[in-house]
Amino acid sequence: MLSGPSGVGKSTVVAHLRKVHPEVWLSVSATTRKPRPGERHGVQYFFVEDEEFDKLIANGELLEWAEFAGHRYGTPRKAVMDRLEAGEPVLLEIDLQGARQVRESMDDASLVFLAPPSWDELVRRLTGRGTEAPEVIERRLAAAKVELAAETEFDLTLVNTSVEAVSRELLALMLHRSGDQDIS
Ligand code: 5GP
Repeated sequence: MLSGPSGVGKSTVVAHLRKVHPEVWLSVSATTRKPRPGERHGVQYFFVEDEEFDKLIANGELLEWAEFAGHRYGTPRKAVMDRLEAGEPVLLEIDLQGARQVRESMDDASLVFLAPPSWDELVRRLTGRGTEAPEVIERRLAAAKVELAAETEFDLTLVNTSVEAVSRELLALMLHRSGDQDIS
């Protein structure tokens, strides 16, 4: 499971990993956040209304969920469980609160923390993304401070200096855990 502050580059790393290795399965989360330009329903997220998200919680359909910077995000349970039961590796890209919940319910999950090379670099990436309003960036930077302080709760930290290197390490970890050592 990959976590780390907003803006650190989790999605970029995961997108790169899946471009090189399309067989890697990534859980698609549900969120109440509105799509950013270019994001599509069912690809980056299942974009749902608040009422729909309430139902997912009430029906026990989420493995974990959290509120992040004013919106809710959650991992659909069934798709993850189906893959785990088939012995296939599963990749989740979630925030700290979600990572803590998964740790509680799945003690053999690997928690990987993606750290920025520096605080200034994180600020630069979050601001430079150009997709969020200043107050949204402020909320995300406040959340990032909390997330960075929790790094020691994770099994492994990868510093995002190179997207290629980090995605290679992530893949190696997933294959190692699923017992398949054949890394190309
Ligand atoms: P963004 O709005 O930038 O796509 O995501 C905001 C934060 O929510 C990121 O830290 C991302 O990893 C996290 N996130 C995305 N999906 C989930 C999820 O299903 N559960 C939890 N707990 N966090 C998620």
